[in-house]
Formats: sequence, structure tokens, C-alpha cells
Amino acid sequence: MEKHIGSCRCGDLEFHFKGEPLNTIFCYCEECQKLTGSDKWFGLWVPRANFEITKGAPLTYSRVGDSGAEVVYLFCGTCSTVVCAEVTAGDFYSVSATSLKLNPFPPKMAIYVSSSPTWAVLPEDVPNFDILPPGMGR
Ligand SMILES: [Zn+2]
Ligand SMILES: [Zn+2]
Repeated sequence: MEKHIGSCRCGDLEFHFKGEPLNTIFCYCEECQKLTGSDKWFGLWVPRANFEITKGAPLTYSRVGDSGAEVVYLFCGTCSTVVCAEVTAGDFYSVSATSLKLNPFPPKMAIYVSSSPTWAVLPEDVPNFDILPPGMGR
């Protein structure tokens, strides 16, 4: 399987994941806006077994997600970059696409569009969902 490598801004943390993501998603929920200081988080959903921190020790912050299960953010204690979020409800990591050295994966959908800020630029060429697509989560 192809290996995709990434890091935080300062390089203290490095990671890789193998193979294709399960999904590639722009998330416009309020949590992601706060987290990124932007309109969205671009997450590559990678099965837990395919993801590995290869350098450094991330700090963690966890919150309860909409599903009721924990979302655990892994971030660098030096530069504060969040490299991924462990979504325990789905047994995958939502890896920050912007932390990859090279990201060959375009977004496949946009979720939580109903909470996007008025100035958000929504993608026009992929499905947009107010919250989640039917059958996903909850
Ligand atoms: Zn760092
Ligand atoms: Zn979100």
C-alpha cells in the first residue's frame, strides 16, 4: 500500500498512513471552525490500523462528539498543529489533509454545511450535506 507522510508545522511530530482514505471530507461544524481558525477542517478518514505517529509524542485533547463517543485530537506541544483526530465512534482517524507533505486526495463531500459561516466558500462539484449524509453516524 502506498505510504502518505505528514508532519506538524515545526516538524517535532511526524506521521504516515497507508493506502486510500475511507473518505475525504470538508467539515464545516462549529468545532472544526474553532479548531482550525477557518471555515472548515479537511479530514482524510483513515482506518486506525493504517495510521502511525512515526516521530514525537503528541499531546491530546478530547471532547464528546455528536455520536456521544469521544473525539481525541492529537497535536504538537511545540507548534500546536493538530495533525489528526481519532474518531472513536468510527474506529478511524480524521487526518488533517493540510499536514500531509503531498495531498493527492480531493474532497468527496462537504458536511455540517448548515453551520458554515456566511463567508465560507463551499465546494460546488461534490455533494453538500446540511449535517451528515443519510446513514452516516448518529
Ligand atoms: Zn510541531
Ligand atoms: Zn467538524
